[in-house]
Amino acid sequence: MRVLNKTTLLICFSILFSTSFVYSQSDTTMDTGGGDLNELDEPIVNADLNKPNTLNDTLATKFILFPTTTAFQEWNISVIHNRKYDFSNALDTMCIPLLNDSLGTFVQPFKGRITSVFGPRKYRYHYGVDIKLQTGDSVACAFDGTVRISQRSKTYGNVIVVRHKNGLETFYAHLSKKFVEPNQAVKAGEILGLGGNTGRSYGSHLHFEIRYMDEPINPSDVVDFENYSLKSDTLMLTKTNFSYMEKVKEFEAIKFHTIRKGDTLSKIAQNYGTSVSTLCKINGITTKKILKIGSKLRVN
Ligand SMILES: [Zn+2]
Repeated sequence: MRVLNKTTLLICFSILFSTSFVYSQSDTTMDTGGGDLNELDEPIVNADLNKPNTLNDTLATKFILFPTTTAFQEWNISVIHNRKYDFSNALDTMCIPLLNDSLGTFVQPFKGRITSVFGPRKYRYHYGVDIKLQTGDSVACAFDGTVRISQRSKTYGNVIVVRHKNGLETFYAHLSKKFVEPNQAVKAGEILGLGGNTGRSYGSHLHFEIRYMDEPINPSDVVDFENYSLKSDTLMLTKTNFSYMEKVKEFEAIKFHTIRKGDTLSKIAQNYGTSVSTLCKINGITTKKILKIGSKLRVN
Protein backbone atom coordinates (compact mmCIF):
# COMPACT_ATOMS: atom_id res chain seq x y z
CA MET A 1 0.00 0.00 0.00
CA ARG A 2 1.21 3.45 -0.72
CA VAL A 3 0.57 5.49 2.35
CA LEU A 4 2.16 8.86 1.90
CA ASN A 5 3.37 11.61 4.11
CA LYS A 6 2.23 15.20 4.05
CA THR A 7 4.11 15.97 0.86
CA THR A 8 1.23 14.22 -0.80
CA LEU A 9 -0.76 17.30 0.00
CA LEU A 10 1.07 19.01 -2.83
CA ILE A 11 0.17 16.24 -5.21
CA CYS A 12 -3.46 16.45 -4.24
CA PHE A 13 -3.44 20.18 -4.71
CA SER A 14 -1.95 19.66 -8.11
CA ILE A 15 -4.90 17.42 -8.95
CA LEU A 16 -7.30 20.02 -7.74
CA PHE A 17 -5.83 23.05 -9.37
CA SER A 18 -4.28 21.71 -12.51
CA THR A 19 -6.53 21.14 -15.47
CA SER A 20 -3.85 19.16 -17.24
CA PHE A 21 -2.85 16.79 -14.51
CA VAL A 22 -0.91 13.86 -15.86
CA TYR A 23 -0.76 10.76 -13.78
CA SER A 24 2.88 10.06 -14.49
CA GLN A 25 3.67 13.22 -12.53
CA SER A 26 3.06 11.33 -9.35
CA ASP A 27 5.51 8.63 -10.37
CA THR A 28 5.30 5.58 -8.16
CA THR A 29 3.19 7.29 -5.55
CA MET A 30 0.00 6.61 -7.43
CA ASP A 31 -1.23 3.35 -8.80
CA THR A 32 -2.71 4.46 -12.06
CA GLY A 33 -4.37 1.13 -12.44
CA GLY A 34 -2.73 0.56 -15.77
CA GLY A 35 -2.09 -3.11 -15.03
CA ASP A 36 -4.39 -6.06 -15.02
CA LEU A 37 -6.23 -7.72 -12.19
CA ASN A 38 -3.09 -9.59 -11.10
CA GLU A 39 -1.96 -6.48 -9.33
CA LEU A 40 -4.93 -6.92 -7.03
CA ASP A 41 -3.16 -9.89 -5.54
CA GLU A 42 -0.25 -7.86 -4.19
CA PRO A 43 0.09 -8.27 -0.44
CA ILE A 44 -0.75 -5.27 1.70
CA VAL A 45 2.37 -3.71 3.08
CA ASN A 46 0.56 -2.08 5.94
CA ALA A 47 -1.42 -4.97 7.35
CA ASP A 48 -2.89 -2.75 10.06
CA LEU A 49 -5.30 -1.33 7.53
CA ASN A 50 -7.04 -4.67 7.59
CA LYS A 51 -7.96 -4.28 11.24
CA PRO A 52 -10.87 -1.93 11.77
CA ASN A 53 -9.90 -1.04 15.32
CA THR A 54 -6.51 0.24 14.25
CA LEU A 55 -7.64 1.88 11.05
CA ASN A 56 -7.92 5.36 12.47
CA ASP A 57 -4.53 5.15 14.17
CA THR A 58 -3.01 3.94 10.97
CA LEU A 59 -4.54 6.69 8.92
CA ALA A 60 -4.18 9.44 11.49
CA THR A 61 -2.53 12.60 10.23
CA LYS A 62 -1.73 10.99 6.90
CA PHE A 63 -2.93 12.28 3.63
CA ILE A 64 -3.73 9.39 1.41
CA LEU A 65 -3.86 9.21 -2.30
CA PHE A 66 -5.97 6.42 -3.68
CA PRO A 67 -6.06 4.02 -5.43
CA THR A 68 -3.94 1.72 -3.35
CA THR A 69 -3.56 -1.99 -3.62
CA THR A 70 -5.56 -2.26 -0.41
CA ALA A 71 -8.55 -0.86 -2.20
CA PHE A 72 -8.37 -3.85 -4.49
CA GLN A 73 -7.39 -6.34 -1.81
CA GLU A 74 -10.48 -8.44 -1.82
CA TRP A 75 -11.93 -9.82 -4.97
CA ASN A 76 -14.99 -11.84 -4.12
CA ILE A 77 -17.30 -12.61 -7.00
CA SER A 78 -20.08 -14.14 -4.92
CA VAL A 79 -20.41 -12.10 -1.72
CA ILE A 80 -21.77 -8.62 -2.41
CA HIS A 81 -20.83 -6.92 0.86
CA ASN A 82 -17.77 -7.15 3.01
CA ARG A 83 -18.04 -4.01 5.14
CA LYS A 84 -15.55 -3.63 7.94
CA TYR A 85 -14.20 -0.12 7.74
CA ASP A 86 -15.46 2.88 9.61
CA PHE A 87 -14.32 6.08 8.01
CA SER A 88 -16.57 8.26 10.13
CA ASN A 89 -13.61 9.27 12.33
CA ALA A 90 -10.88 9.19 9.71
CA LEU A 91 -8.62 12.19 9.96
CA ASP A 92 -7.40 11.96 6.41
CA THR A 93 -8.52 13.17 3.09
CA MET A 94 -8.55 10.45 0.50
CA CYS A 95 -7.98 11.69 -3.01
CA ILE A 96 -9.82 9.52 -5.49
CA PRO A 97 -9.32 10.38 -9.14
CA LEU A 98 -12.49 10.20 -11.20
CA LEU A 99 -11.05 11.01 -14.57
CA ASN A 100 -8.12 9.14 -15.99
CA ASP A 101 -7.31 6.72 -18.77
CA SER A 102 -8.20 3.66 -16.70
CA LEU A 103 -11.69 4.95 -15.89
CA GLY A 104 -12.84 6.11 -19.30
CA THR A 105 -15.23 9.01 -19.66
CA PHE A 106 -18.02 9.01 -17.11
CA VAL A 107 -21.44 7.96 -18.40
CA GLN A 108 -24.58 8.39 -16.33
CA PRO A 109 -26.07 4.87 -15.99
CA PHE A 110 -29.53 6.07 -16.95
CA LYS A 111 -30.69 9.56 -17.78
CA GLY A 112 -33.84 9.77 -15.73
CA ARG A 113 -35.50 11.55 -12.86
CA ILE A 114 -34.20 10.90 -9.35
CA THR A 115 -37.10 9.49 -7.35
CA SER A 116 -35.30 8.79 -4.08
CA VAL A 117 -32.08 10.22 -2.72
CA PHE A 118 -29.36 8.79 -0.49
CA GLY A 119 -30.34 8.97 3.16
CA PRO A 120 -32.82 7.90 5.81
CA ARG A 121 -36.02 6.37 4.50
CA LYS A 122 -38.58 5.29 7.06
CA TYR A 123 -36.77 2.68 9.17
CA ARG A 124 -34.20 1.63 6.62
CA TYR A 125 -31.27 3.68 5.38
CA HIS A 126 -31.13 4.16 1.62
CA TYR A 127 -27.57 3.72 0.42
CA GLY A 128 -28.06 4.86 -3.15
CA VAL A 129 -30.13 6.97 -5.47
CA ASP A 130 -33.16 5.72 -7.37
CA ILE A 131 -33.47 6.72 -10.99
CA LYS A 132 -36.84 6.31 -12.68
CA LEU A 133 -36.86 4.10 -15.74
CA GLN A 134 -39.11 1.66 -17.55
CA THR A 135 -38.47 -2.06 -17.42
CA GLY A 136 -36.32 -2.86 -20.44
CA ASP A 137 -34.47 0.46 -20.54
CA SER A 138 -30.70 0.09 -21.01
CA VAL A 139 -28.48 0.62 -17.99
CA ALA A 140 -24.92 1.73 -18.76
CA CYS A 141 -21.71 1.34 -16.82
CA ALA A 142 -20.51 4.60 -15.22
CA PHE A 143 -16.75 4.08 -15.62
CA ASP A 144 -14.42 1.49 -17.12
CA GLY A 145 -13.93 -1.39 -14.74
CA THR A 146 -14.28 -5.07 -14.06
CA VAL A 147 -17.51 -6.80 -13.10
CA ARG A 148 -17.20 -8.29 -9.61
CA ILE A 149 -20.82 -9.30 -8.98
CA SER A 150 -23.55 -10.36 -11.37
CA GLN A 151 -26.22 -12.20 -9.46
CA ARG A 152 -29.75 -12.17 -8.14
CA SER A 153 -30.13 -11.03 -4.54
CA LYS A 154 -33.22 -10.95 -2.36
CA THR A 155 -33.03 -7.21 -1.77
CA TYR A 156 -31.14 -5.87 -4.81
CA GLY A 157 -32.85 -8.22 -7.26
CA ASN A 158 -30.66 -8.69 -10.32
CA VAL A 159 -27.59 -6.71 -9.41
CA ILE A 160 -24.29 -5.89 -11.04
CA VAL A 161 -21.32 -4.51 -9.16
CA VAL A 162 -18.39 -3.08 -11.08
CA ARG A 163 -15.00 -2.42 -9.49
CA HIS A 164 -13.14 0.55 -10.90
CA LYS A 165 -9.42 1.21 -10.93
CA ASN A 166 -9.76 4.11 -8.51
CA GLY A 167 -11.05 1.77 -5.81
CA LEU A 168 -14.69 2.76 -6.14
CA GLU A 169 -17.43 0.28 -6.88
CA THR A 170 -20.70 1.08 -8.61
CA PHE A 171 -23.90 -0.90 -8.02
CA TYR A 172 -26.76 -1.33 -10.48
CA ALA A 173 -29.80 -2.99 -8.87
CA HIS A 174 -33.34 -4.22 -9.58
CA LEU A 175 -32.42 -5.08 -13.17
CA SER A 176 -34.71 -7.22 -15.31
CA LYS A 177 -31.78 -8.61 -17.30
CA LYS A 178 -28.01 -8.90 -16.76
CA PHE A 179 -25.68 -8.89 -19.74
CA VAL A 180 -22.31 -9.24 -18.03
CA GLU A 181 -20.52 -11.80 -15.88
CA PRO A 182 -17.99 -11.56 -13.03
CA ASN A 183 -14.38 -10.88 -14.07
CA GLN A 184 -15.55 -9.34 -17.33
CA ALA A 185 -13.90 -6.06 -18.29
CA VAL A 186 -16.44 -3.36 -19.08
CA LYS A 187 -16.21 0.11 -20.52
CA ALA A 188 -17.92 3.31 -19.45
CA GLY A 189 -21.19 3.45 -21.35
CA GLU A 190 -21.33 -0.29 -21.98
CA ILE A 191 -24.83 -1.71 -21.41
CA LEU A 192 -24.67 -3.87 -18.29
CA GLY A 193 -28.29 -4.94 -18.36
CA LEU A 194 -31.87 -3.75 -18.57
CA GLY A 195 -33.71 -1.82 -15.91
CA GLY A 196 -36.47 -3.52 -13.98
CA ASN A 197 -38.32 -4.08 -10.75
CA THR A 198 -36.66 -7.17 -9.24
CA GLY A 199 -35.81 -7.67 -5.56
CA ARG A 200 -37.17 -5.33 -2.91
CA SER A 201 -38.47 -2.77 -5.34
CA TYR A 202 -41.81 -1.11 -5.84
CA GLY A 203 -41.97 0.10 -9.39
CA SER A 204 -39.34 -0.01 -12.11
CA HIS A 205 -36.24 2.00 -11.28
CA LEU A 206 -32.49 1.78 -11.15
CA HIS A 207 -31.00 1.71 -7.67
CA PHE A 208 -27.49 3.09 -8.13
CA GLU A 209 -24.83 3.04 -5.45
CA ILE A 210 -21.24 4.20 -5.24
CA ARG A 211 -19.07 2.60 -2.57
CA TYR A 212 -15.50 2.88 -1.42
CA MET A 213 -14.17 -0.24 0.30
CA ASP A 214 -17.80 -1.26 0.51
CA GLU A 215 -18.71 1.86 2.49
CA PRO A 216 -21.48 3.75 0.71
CA ILE A 217 -20.90 7.28 -0.51
CA ASN A 218 -23.73 9.57 -1.49
CA PRO A 219 -23.71 9.26 -5.32
CA SER A 220 -24.67 12.93 -5.46
CA ASP A 221 -21.27 13.75 -3.93
CA VAL A 222 -19.79 12.37 -7.14
CA VAL A 223 -22.35 12.82 -9.88
CA ASP A 224 -24.42 15.81 -10.98
CA PHE A 225 -27.48 13.77 -11.94
CA GLU A 226 -29.23 16.76 -13.49
CA ASN A 227 -26.43 17.42 -15.94
CA TYR A 228 -25.24 13.83 -16.36
CA SER A 229 -21.71 14.76 -15.43
CA LEU A 230 -19.13 14.42 -12.69
CA LYS A 231 -19.08 17.08 -10.02
CA SER A 232 -15.29 17.11 -10.00
CA ASP A 233 -12.28 15.39 -11.54
CA THR A 234 -11.22 14.19 -8.12
CA LEU A 235 -13.29 12.97 -5.22
CA MET A 236 -11.86 14.28 -1.97
CA LEU A 237 -13.22 11.84 0.57
CA THR A 238 -13.19 12.92 4.19
CA LYS A 239 -15.01 11.77 7.28
CA THR A 240 -17.78 14.21 6.32
CA ASN A 241 -18.71 11.90 3.46
CA PHE A 242 -19.32 9.19 6.05
CA SER A 243 -20.98 11.29 8.76
CA TYR A 244 -24.33 9.73 7.79
CA MET A 245 -23.13 6.61 9.62
CA GLU A 246 -24.22 8.19 12.89
CA LYS A 247 -27.75 8.28 11.52
CA VAL A 248 -27.42 4.67 10.42
CA LYS A 249 -26.42 3.67 13.95
CA GLU A 250 -29.56 5.41 15.26
CA PHE A 251 -31.63 3.47 12.75
CA GLU A 252 -30.02 0.22 13.73
CA ALA A 253 -30.78 0.93 17.40
CA ILE A 254 -34.52 1.06 16.73
CA LYS A 255 -36.29 -1.89 18.39
CA PHE A 256 -39.59 -3.46 17.56
CA HIS A 257 -41.96 -5.59 19.58
CA THR A 258 -44.00 -8.30 17.91
CA ILE A 259 -47.55 -8.22 19.22
CA ARG A 260 -48.58 -11.31 21.18
CA LYS A 261 -51.92 -12.44 22.57
CA GLY A 262 -52.91 -10.34 25.58
CA ASP A 263 -50.63 -7.41 24.76
CA THR A 264 -51.89 -3.91 25.49
CA LEU A 265 -50.19 -0.60 24.84
CA SER A 266 -49.73 0.02 28.55
CA LYS A 267 -48.26 -3.45 29.12
CA ILE A 268 -45.83 -3.01 26.22
CA ALA A 269 -44.92 0.51 27.41
CA GLN A 270 -44.18 -0.80 30.86
CA ASN A 271 -42.07 -3.70 29.57
CA TYR A 272 -39.91 -1.38 27.50
CA GLY A 273 -39.70 1.45 30.02
CA THR A 274 -41.63 3.92 27.92
CA SER A 275 -45.07 5.52 27.93
CA VAL A 276 -48.23 4.88 25.96
CA SER A 277 -48.15 8.39 24.55
CA THR A 278 -44.57 7.84 23.28
CA LEU A 279 -45.56 4.53 21.70
CA CYS A 280 -48.47 6.24 19.97
CA LYS A 281 -46.30 9.10 18.77
CA ILE A 282 -43.45 7.03 17.33
CA ASN A 283 -45.83 4.62 15.65
CA GLY A 284 -48.28 7.25 14.43
CA ILE A 285 -51.22 5.55 16.14
CA THR A 286 -53.85 6.41 18.76
CA THR A 287 -54.69 4.59 21.98
CA LYS A 288 -57.69 3.13 20.17
CA LYS A 289 -55.46 1.21 17.77
CA ILE A 290 -56.27 -2.49 17.65
CA LEU A 291 -53.06 -4.45 18.14
CA LYS A 292 -52.95 -7.23 15.59
CA ILE A 293 -51.15 -10.38 16.75
CA GLY A 294 -47.93 -10.82 14.79
CA SER A 295 -47.62 -7.18 13.73
CA LYS A 296 -44.70 -5.04 14.86
CA LEU A 297 -44.67 -2.00 17.08
CA ARG A 298 -41.71 0.31 17.38
CA VAL A 299 -40.78 0.61 21.06
CA ASN A 300 -37.96 3.18 21.21
ZN1 LIG B 1 -32.91 2.56 -4.06
